Amino acid sequence: MSKTQEILRAPHEQIEKIQLEGIKRTAINCYENIPFYKQSFDEAGFDPHSIESFDDVARAPFVEKQDLRDAYPYGMLAVPLKEVKEIHMSSGTTGVATVGAYTKHDIDIWGECFARGILFADGSDEDVVQVAYGYGLFTGGLGAHYGGHWMDATVIPISAGNTERQIRVMRDMGTTILCCTPSYAMHIADTAIEMGLDPARDLHLRAGIHGAEPFSDNFRAELERKLGYKVLDVYGLTETMGPGVANECWEQKGLHIAEDHFYPEIINPETGEVLPDGEWGELVLTTLDREASPVVRYRTRDITRIIPGQCPCGCSHRRIDRIHGRTDDMLIIRGVNVFPSQIEDVMKTFDQVSSWYQIEVDTDHRSLDIVTLKAEVNPGFELDSVAAVERLQKEISATLKTALSVGVRVKLVEPKSIPRSEGKAKRVIDLRKEK
Ligand code: ADP
Ligand code: ZN
Repeated sequence: MSKTQEILRAPHEQIEKIQLEGIKRTAINCYENIPFYKQSFDEAGFDPHSIESFDDVARAPFVEKQDLRDAYPYGMLAVPLKEVKEIHMSSGTTGVATVGAYTKHDIDIWGECFARGILFADGSDEDVVQVAYGYGLFTGGLGAHYGGHWMDATVIPISAGNTERQIRVMRDMGTTILCCTPSYAMHIADTAIEMGLDPARDLHLRAGIHGAEPFSDNFRAELERKLGYKVLDVYGLTETMGPGVANECWEQKGLHIAEDHFYPEIINPETGEVLPDGEWGELVLTTLDREASPVVRYRTRDITRIIPGQCPCGCSHRRIDRIHGRTDDMLIIRGVNVFPSQIEDVMKTFDQVSSWYQIEVDTDHRSLDIVTLKAEVNPGFELDSVAAVERLQKEISATLKTALSVGVRVKLVEPKSIPRSEGKAKRVIDLRKEK
C-alpha cells in the first residue's frame, strides 16, 4: 500500500495530531515571515506559540481574499523568491486576481492531492487521463496534470477548447478519465452526440473528475447518462493550492478533505463563530505544510458543511458536502437566500429544458429585485406555440416558488442561445451592478 493509501485510512486521532502540529508550525512561520500575519496576530493579541488545541486555533484571526489581493504581488510569500518554482493566479471570477506560489515540495503535494481523486476513481498507471481544464495561470489544468503524473498515468495535456478535436482525441487515444469543469463536460457530451457518436459506446470513459464550479445532482446525473461514466467532484482554490483540497470518492457522498495537508473549519459567515459538524456555513482552511503561500484560517467564502460520521469507503478523512456556491454568488431575492445551484436543481426536473441557463438579476422601478431565469429548451420543444411556452414558464416558476420560496420569472429561450463555456460557466448576470 502506498503512503497515500495508508494516510487515507489512518485513524483520525493520528490525523488530528498531524493537523495540530501543522497548524502551529504554519502559524509561527507566517508570523515570523509574513508582515501581514505579524500585524494581524499582534492586533488580535494572538500568540501562535500558544497553540495547544483546536480551541486555540479558533482564536486566531481570519485572513480574507482582500488581504491576499492587497499583498499582490509577493506580499504573502513565506520563502525567498528563488525557491518559488511556479506561480498561479485565481481566475478572477469575482474581481482582482490573487497569487498562489509553489516551491518544488508544494507542487509534489499538489500532485499527490489531486491524485487522490484519481485513486478514488479506482485509477492506476493504466489510465489515460485527458486534462481538458484550461492550462495557464488557472490552477485546473496543471493541478490535474500533476495528479496524473503522480499516478504514473498517461496524461493528455489537451487543455480546454477545440471541442471536436477534444472528442476525436478522447476516442482515438482511449481516454478513461476526463478532467474538466462540469459545464465543459456537458458541452463535450452534447457536441459528441451532435457529431453522431454514442459516447457511452464509442468512447472509453470510466470517470470524470469535474470541479472548479458548483453543479447540481441532476446535472451530474445527466452527464453520467450522456457520457456513460461516473462523475466525481473535486474542490480546490488557488489561495490554498488548487484542485485536490477535497476529492469525492466512488460513494459520491461528499468530498474527502486532504486532512493531512489542510485543516478545515466551518464558520457562521456573519459572526465568525465555529460551527459543529453537520451545520452549513463558510469553509475556512489552514494549510499544514504549504511552503511558499501558507494561509492561516483563510475564509474561502464557499458554503458547505462537514458531513458527520464515517464514509462507507473506509477513508478516515472528513468530508465536506458538495459546495452550494460562494457567499458572493448567493442571491438574496426579497429576503430569501438562494444559490444558483438550487435553482438549477429544480429546473432540471423538467424534461423540456436543457442544462443551460442563466439567471439575470435586475431591479424594477420600485427598486425591488426581479430575477429572471433564462432556460434553454431542449430540441423538439417548439417555442412558436405561445400557449405551451407560457404554460411551461408558469409551471417552472410555480415549482421554484414551492421549492425555494422565491419568485422567479422564467423565460424559455432557443437551444444554444446561451454562451457555452470551456471553463467556469457564467450563471448569474447581475444588471444591478451595471446601473
Ligand atoms: P476564482 O475565485 O477566481 O474563481 P479559483 O479558480 O481559484 O478562483 O476558484 C476557486 C473557487 O472555485 C472556489 O473558491 C469555489 O468557489 C469554486 N470551486 C472550486 N471547486 C468547486 C467545486 N467542486 N464545487 C463548487 N465550487 C467549486
Ligand atoms: Zn468516501
